[in-house]
Amino acid sequence: MNLTEPQAGSDLALLRARAERNDDGSFRLFGQKIFITYGEHDLSDNIVHLVLARLPGAPPGTRGISLFLTPKFLPDASGGFTRRNDLRCAGIEHKLGVNGSPTCTMVYGDAGGATAFLVGEENKGLACMFTMMNNARLAVGLQGVALAERATQQALAYARERRQGRGEGGGAAPIVQHPDVARMCLTMTALTQAARAICYETAVSLDRAKREADPAQASRKRERAGLLTPIAKAFSTDIGNEVASLGVQVFGGMGFIEEAGASQLLRDVRIAAIYEGTNGIQAIDLVTRKLKLSGGAALTREIDDMRASAESAAEFGALREAVAAFESASRFMESAEPRVALAGATPYLRLFALARGGTLLAKGAASGEPRRIAIARFFADNLAVAAPGLAKVVTAGAASTLEGGAALEA
Ligand SMILES: Cc1cc2nc3c(=O)[nH]c(=O)nc-3n(C[C@H](O)[C@H](O)[C@H](O)COP(=O)(O)OP(=O)(O)OC[C@H]3O[C@@H](n4cnc5c(N)ncnc54)[C@H](O)[C@@H]3O)c2cc1C
Repeated sequence: MNLTEPQAGSDLALLRARAERNDDGSFRLFGQKIFITYGEHDLSDNIVHLVLARLPGAPPGTRGISLFLTPKFLPDASGGFTRRNDLRCAGIEHKLGVNGSPTCTMVYGDAGGATAFLVGEENKGLACMFTMMNNARLAVGLQGVALAERATQQALAYARERRQGRGEGGGAAPIVQHPDVARMCLTMTALTQAARAICYETAVSLDRAKREADPAQASRKRERAGLLTPIAKAFSTDIGNEVASLGVQVFGGMGFIEEAGASQLLRDVRIAAIYEGTNGIQAIDLVTRKLKLSGGAALTREIDDMRASAESAAEFGALREAVAAFESASRFMESAEPRVALAGATPYLRLFALARGGTLLAKGAASGEPRRIAIARFFADNLAVAAPGLAKVVTAGAASTLEGGAALEA
């Protein structure tokens, strides 16, 4: 996916790459793209780039962007793909992490224009690209879950083996027996399971939307997937960073040494909160678009479901408070001035995830499995208790954020 340009990252309205129509219906593409994942490599016979660009006379902003299929190799007379298209990798970025993935600067049209083919309708490129972007957002959320899971498994294995400090029997104890290490490992486990549950709920809603015969039900499922997607992406990747960092802490000094593997997870997960729309952009999407789905009905259904789960899991009392805090923050968001709502967007997304994640874990605990019950209780008592405080950051905190932001700007 070739979206990003030096001057156009989160704001694709600023995009400058351009395309001109050829007589045979194909196009000539010109421009530069940066940070393109696997923009160049030799793992496959061909690379098919999907590039966003503007046509002559296109409306300004995002309404004037079209999508073009632009292969590295074009077909020759015998049907083989041997003709090099007019595109090249001008450099590979040196990155903090994900060093197995080449991130490329791509240049199109240095020698007269790269041959490209329009995908979908003219000026509807962003909508076409979002078909993939929405899937990619859930996939990146799962990247956060996967790295968090790996960090948790590594940390637990180390904490059960590494001996320091006195144990109950008098000898050196496995560090997992120390309450502070147990707290870190439980936090890692609980956050990872909550994020995984949110991602799976999103995936289930997407699948059901496709299979549902009743159009009204299908539309409800689609809306639910739409509502949960920014949370699945942003929460899972935020906690991916938190969990990977805790993983380094559990390893102690070895966590900082490459050999143990904990530091690589921390470096690799950092990007997940940035690409496919930064987590700040996800929060904006949640607040400005998703809360408004069906006039707020999608959100109301979600709150009703969370409340019912929290009430049927009476043993996890903090969840009821978390859901109540989330509900009051949601009502605030619905009536807040747009800039105030934006100032509270990121803490609101976190609050949503804590209430949703906690109630999903409580549902899972109904199976009676002791490990699940212990994790759900830890989540409710230690993580979801942050919810009322977060609700305050959303309501009272939003106004002071705006004031502080203006002071910083000045
Ligand atoms: C390793 C890697 C791989 C990538 N792969 C691809 C790829 O394959 N294809 C591709 O097209 N791109 C790719 N990207 C680009 C990536 O999607 C962008 O870096 C990302 O969208 C952010 O854009 P930016 O870097 O210009 O940051 P900016 O948009 O400049 O954002 C800087 C900060 O400002 C915040 N911000 C910006 N606008 C707003 C706003 N309106 N309101 C509130 N906050 C705002 C952001 O949240 C962020 O914190 C990749 C990047 C990296 C590092």
